[in-house]
Amino acid sequence: MQSVADALASMMGAFQPRGEEEVALPEAAGRYLSRDVTASMDSPPFDNSAMDGYAVFAEDVVAASTSDPARLRVHGESRAGGEAPSLLERGTACRIFTGAPMPPGADAVVIQEDTRRQRDEVEVLEASHVGRHVRTRGSDVRAGSTLLRTGDRVRAGEIGLLASQNIDRVHVFGRPTVALLSTGDELRPLGADLPPGTIVNSNLYALTQMLRDLGVVPIALPAAPDRLPDIEGALRQALEADVVISMGGVSVGEYDLVHEAFANLGIELGFWKVRIKPGKPLAFASYEGKPVIGLPGNPISAMVTFEVLVAPCLRKMLGDPEPHPQPVAARLREGYRRRPGRVEIARALATREGDDLVVTLNTRQGSGSLTSFVGVNALVILPADRAELAAGERVDAILWGGGLRGPRSFFDGLD
Ligand code: AMP
Ligand code: MG
Repeated sequence: MQSVADALASMMGAFQPRGEEEVALPEAAGRYLSRDVTASMDSPPFDNSAMDGYAVFAEDVVAASTSDPARLRVHGESRAGGEAPSLLERGTACRIFTGAPMPPGADAVVIQEDTRRQRDEVEVLEASHVGRHVRTRGSDVRAGSTLLRTGDRVRAGEIGLLASQNIDRVHVFGRPTVALLSTGDELRPLGADLPPGTIVNSNLYALTQMLRDLGVVPIALPAAPDRLPDIEGALRQALEADVVISMGGVSVGEYDLVHEAFANLGIELGFWKVRIKPGKPLAFASYEGKPVIGLPGNPISAMVTFEVLVAPCLRKMLGDPEPHPQPVAARLREGYRRRPGRVEIARALATREGDDLVVTLNTRQGSGSLTSFVGVNALVILPADRAELAAGERVDAILWGGGLRGPRSFFDGLD
C-alpha cells in the first residue's frame, strides 16, 4: 500500500500541461497563462489628475495659505474624455477633473476643497508641490515591462489589468478533457425511475462539478454495468479524453472488474491502494502515457481522493505552478478517536473564534454518508499514527469550497 505522499508524487509525474492556445480575454478567466505578457503601453497612458480641482504651476502656489492665498486666473477646463487642454501659462490655473489630462506645463493639482472660486479667478488656500495629485504617465506600468508571468491564473484583477492595456487576446494552457466513467449495475441517471436495488449515479454529478470548479472539461459517459465487455467498451471510449477517471469497481468484490478491464485493454497499473481514509482502494494506471485513475465508488471516498490526489494533478495539467493546497493551522473543537494506520481526511466546518480557526468535524465520517459533505469548508488532515486527538489540539486543515463565511459582517463594530 502506498503512502499518500508516494501516491501523489507518482501521479503528479504523469500529468503535464497540454499545449497552449490563444483566446479572447474574457475566455481566459480561470485559466493559466502559457506566456509572459508584456505591457503594450504606459499606464496611465497620459499625465492626468487624481482629483477634482485646479491644475497649476507648483511654483505659483508653494507658499499659498488661508491667510495669504495665491490668486490665479482660471483659464480653460480639462475633463475626463474631453479635448486636450492647451498650454498652461504661469500665474494661471486650469479647472480640472479626476482622470482628465494635465495641461502641458502644469505640474500639480490643487484640490477643489483647498480653493475659493471668484468668477474667473481662483484663490489657492493651501501650499502644494510638484507632482501633487498628478498621476504621471507610466507611473503604474511602463510599456515593455512584464505585466504577468507564465503560470499566473487569470482572475478578475488580471483581466482588469490586461483590459486596461487593451490586450484582448492571451495565450493560455489548453484545458484537458477528463472522461468520467461510472461503473455499477445499480446506477441510474438523475431523474430516472429507481426500481428496488438501484440508486442515482450521484458521483457523476458531484465529480462533474468538482472538475468544472477546477477548470477542466468534464466528459460524462453513461454508467457501465458490472460486465467486463461493457466496462471495456466504455473505457475505450473514455480513452479518447486526456485523462480517464473511472468510479467504482476497484475493490476486491466479485463484481469489481475494473482491474481486469484495465489489464485486458493494456492499461498498465501503477499502484493500487493508498493509506488514506476514506478511499483506500484507489488505483492509478496509464495507457500510452495517458493517466487513468480508478476512484473508489463510495461517494465520500471518491470526492476525498479526488480532492487530495487528483485535483493537484489536474491543476498541474492546467498549467498551475503551485498546484498543492497549503493547509492552515486549526484547532479541533472536540476530541476524536480513530483507528490509526491511514491518514484520515475528515470533513469539517471551520469557523473563526478570536485568533483561532476552529474545526468541528462532521459527526458522520463514514465513506457512504453524503450528508457529511454538505456545508463543508475544511478538510482536516489527521495523521496516520494518531489514535486519539484531544479537544483543542492543533491540526492541519485544507480550506475547501467557499472558505469562511458567516451571517454577520466582520466590519460590524469596526471604525
Ligand atoms: P464499488 O466501489 O463499486 O464497490 O462501490 C462502493 C459503493 O459506492 C457501493 O455502495 C456503490 O453502490 C456506491 N457507488 C459506486 N459508484 C457510485 C456512483 N457513481 N454514484 C453513487 N454511488 C456509487
Ligand atoms: Mg460497484
